[in-house]
Amino acid sequence: MLLITCPVCGVRASETEFANGGLYAQEGARDRYVRGIVREWWNCESGCRSWFGMARHAGNQRVFATWVRGKEPELFPGESA
Ligand SMILES: [Zn+2]
Repeated sequence: MLLITCPVCGVRASETEFANGGLYAQEGARDRYVRGIVREWWNCESGCRSWFGMARHAGNQRVFATWVRGKEPELFPGESA
């Protein structure tokens, strides 16, 4: 189970309270996927209904970060430039 915090309204809940919008399309995303880190869009369905980005590890499901659209962090722990 994923525990997700909405970066817009601060709601913290399991992923069943959110809607997965699919993989985040951006330059370099494929490389990050290869390294096990998936970037996706999620929607805060039971809260503010905003779309936000999330990075998680595809293997252990650890959530690295969530961010408001347009404010994506460059790197996450475990990533190298
Ligand atoms: Zn929200």
